[in-house]
Amino acid sequence: MRTYSSLIGNKEINTFSSSTYSTINPKTNTKIDNQFIEASLEEVKKATDLASKALFPFSKSQKKSAFLQLIAEKLDNNRIDLIESYCLESGLPKNRGNIELNRTIYQLQSFSKLIETENWERVHFSPADENRTPSRKPQLTKKRMPIGVVAVFGASNFPFAYSTVGGDTVAALAAGCPVIVKCHPFHAETSCKVARLVNEVIQELELPEGTFSHLLASDYTIGEELIKHPTISAVGFTGSINGGLALQKLAQNRTVPIPVFAEMGSQNPVFILENYFESEPLISLSKKLISSITQSSGQFCTQPGVIFIPSTENGNLLVNEMKSILNEQPIEAMLHPNIYNNFRSLTELIGEQENISQTISTYSSELENQGRGILTEMNLETYMSNPIFHQEVFGPHSFIVRYDTESQLNQFIQKTEGQLTISIFTQNSELIINEEFLFECQLKAGRIIFNGVPTGVEVDPATQHGGPFPSSSDSRFTAVGTDSIERFTRKITFQE
Ligand code: NAP
Repeated sequence: MRTYSSLIGNKEINTFSSSTYSTINPKTNTKIDNQFIEASLEEVKKATDLASKALFPFSKSQKKSAFLQLIAEKLDNNRIDLIESYCLESGLPKNRGNIELNRTIYQLQSFSKLIETENWERVHFSPADENRTPSRKPQLTKKRMPIGVVAVFGASNFPFAYSTVGGDTVAALAAGCPVIVKCHPFHAETSCKVARLVNEVIQELELPEGTFSHLLASDYTIGEELIKHPTISAVGFTGSINGGLALQKLAQNRTVPIPVFAEMGSQNPVFILENYFESEPLISLSKKLISSITQSSGQFCTQPGVIFIPSTENGNLLVNEMKSILNEQPIEAMLHPNIYNNFRSLTELIGEQENISQTISTYSSELENQGRGILTEMNLETYMSNPIFHQEVFGPHSFIVRYDTESQLNQFIQKTEGQLTISIFTQNSELIINEEFLFECQLKAGRIIFNGVPTGVEVDPATQHGGPFPSSSDSRFTAVGTDSIERFTRKITFQE
């Protein structure tokens, strides 16, 4: 049995609390032999005090690029140990763990390179004009500066890439902001191991203590206290819409409100247009769609949650093929019992609604928290009229919505909420040449995909990950790619 404590600055301390929690093996629904000591309010205070003191020296440090590079190296060198905890706590397979760890390492390296070689502060120099009349123009220099101490809340579906030293943490550190992570309770050992590696680098490079802290908590109290603390200047959150909204409300009710950059969920609509059937065999299209719906038990924020398919002969063949492939997909465990229970109760509620038919995978599985694939089919009118169908169902479920004419899709696009992505399978149909429809899609989504599924988000400066509310709290920013540094900066002008 291993016992872990919060990491406050350079110390793992456990002098204030005696209550503990454990993580769960989602495949068996049994407790893992480890324990985590709950952080106390005193530890929130200590972590914020240290972070506040670290802000100036860390923001000025010339070692930030090396810091990120060395964390990447440590993650790589400790790969076997990290992946072991990752698989045990998340139920995700080893190859997925390796892919995600590589992505996290790449993110660290990209930010390391950005701050080493590029003008990420976007310095804008405007010279004085002594001869301007009637008054002299002053010299102005505008640049970006760190926003302050950042609190980070990661998501359970990416224990590496959107958690302890994932996208939010690395963007904030690159900008020169100390970070305090509220550890996700369902992958606490993975998170503690990563946090220790980050701290090893801090000590090796003699960076200021408090540059990074890691708080263990199994309920909301510690996270809420963290957001309310006056030292915190911004929050990076990846998770559910309910969680993101709750944290945003807390941040807005502070005496000094602060921004919460919340990357939340969405339905990621997919439009299959009739003319697309000429360009791809049905079997390959249905495999592509089902794999995107069910891989990793559908636990991706970009999972295709609603697919619009024409009510034609080709459409019928596609839906039938999807249903039969669904039964062949191996079933994986869902990330943790809460996610599994939410998925089960929500899909049962959907199954009780009128004018729908549900296909549930018949694949045989012994797992406890089974991510069984489900397709719920209905016509467009039924879908549009029932708000229960308009929410993210986190897991391997998709609404299959049958439509009669492409112009009906206009009704949907005008009414739908903000989305992370919209996918369109077409070969230059009139609807797509119709710029107004495409513009409506742009108003509703952060990324538009042609002839491809929405899962798989490139870590690239040209990626926009974040769409209009409620998919994200602020669609002007991305959570993926080096541009995401902007969330943790603000602009300042020096005059003269
Ligand atoms: P979650 O339940 O919202 O949890 C995320 C974190 O926020 C956890 O540390 C959680 O603490 C904390 N939290 C949630 N509600 C809170 C509240 N009311 N007060 C204080 N803290 C709160 O999300 P999840 O289940 O881990 O992740 C799945 C969700 O994340 C899905 O909806 C998925 O679409 C979304 N996601 C989005 C993106 C994106 O980039 N847009 C990426 C990945 C995942 P506790 O665990 O203690 O509750």
